[in-house]
Amino acid sequence: MQPFIFNFLPGRVIFGSGTLSQVGDEIRGLGCARALVLSTPQQKDQADHLASQLTDLAVGVYAHATMHTPTDVTLDALRIFREVKADCVVALGGGSTIGLAKAIALNTDVPQIVIPTTYAGSEATPILGQTENGIKTTQKTQKVLPEVIVYDVDLTLGLPAEMSVTSGLNAIAHAVEALYAKDANPLISMLAEQGIAAIARALPRIIKNPDDREARSDALFGAWACGVCLGSVGMSIHHKLCHTLGGSFNLPHAQTHTAVLPHAVAYNFDAAPEAMSRIAAALGVDNAPRGLFDLAKTLGVPTSLAELGLKEADLEKATDIACASPYWNPRAIEPKAIGELLANAWAGKRP
Ligand code: NAD
Repeated sequence: MQPFIFNFLPGRVIFGSGTLSQVGDEIRGLGCARALVLSTPQQKDQADHLASQLTDLAVGVYAHATMHTPTDVTLDALRIFREVKADCVVALGGGSTIGLAKAIALNTDVPQIVIPTTYAGSEATPILGQTENGIKTTQKTQKVLPEVIVYDVDLTLGLPAEMSVTSGLNAIAHAVEALYAKDANPLISMLAEQGIAAIARALPRIIKNPDDREARSDALFGAWACGVCLGSVGMSIHHKLCHTLGGSFNLPHAQTHTAVLPHAVAYNFDAAPEAMSRIAAALGVDNAPRGLFDLAKTLGVPTSLAELGLKEADLEKATDIACASPYWNPRAIEPKAIGELLANAWAGKRP
């Protein structure tokens, strides 16, 4: 018997095609009437379109969401939020836009409706990472957990192919680490397997035809499953390394997850044999780290940190930061071996 403790996260999930048209009803359902719509500058047209669909229910669009949730952007958004007397936020976009919605909710306690357009999974977690003066800090509080998630497959059709792959592998990383989490439980482990399998099946079809609605739907379902894993159990060395590389070296989020994941899994290979078998089975391969590496390689995305712009000279500093305050991990954190892990990820070696 494997004893466990499990805390269910509250939240309402709407999944389908054309579900964007239900956002107005969801705003009313929350007892709200004045939504501030959020997006990045790149998705402003989509946010404007949503605001026009919402008519009187939208009181403004704030289209300056930025990766890693810088606090100065949050302060600016809060100023607009108060100016237009909004009573809820509607975030349309990836983890960056959802991060801004969470930061506004943290400061105001207003409800959030989030409409994810990547596979990053932030929508399903009570976690907020924020950056101030170049330092990224993360906190976990129910205050930032979105009340409603609206998944609309149609909005993901335009996610560029390379971003689809790296974002999909970012999602897979949550499920992989959930399978060897200290607080793993049978329900989340089942969801993790389903999430890995759905995304691994979908990505090659998306690369072949980005408009493949069934593949997009599988990937988005997988993203939800993997996001629930991230929100429900603790993450380990892989997330610590990506957090370090994103926060201190400004590397791009999803691409960094893609390059590091096979090597983090290789690091834990002998320490988590059951998780390794389950990851490999979900991917339909014999060996988990190699299967993850080959998936990225076959789909043509960068598999080395060097390609993402990390300098070889920064590897030592990255190792020191990651080892200074490590997350729990199934294998003890050995600085020399972590240095080797990062060197392999930097060079893009097949594990
Ligand atoms: P992102 O939100 O930064 O999006 C990347 C770019 O793609 C943006 O310009 C965005 O506008 C654009 N984009 C998104 N969806 C699109 C679509 N369907 N079509 C066209 N363009 C689209 O990237 P991300 O990887 O989703 O999020 C990364 C951020 O989210 C990081 O700051 C990370 O720390 C955070 N994150 C947080 C959690 C959490 O639980 N707190 C989880 C995952 C990620």
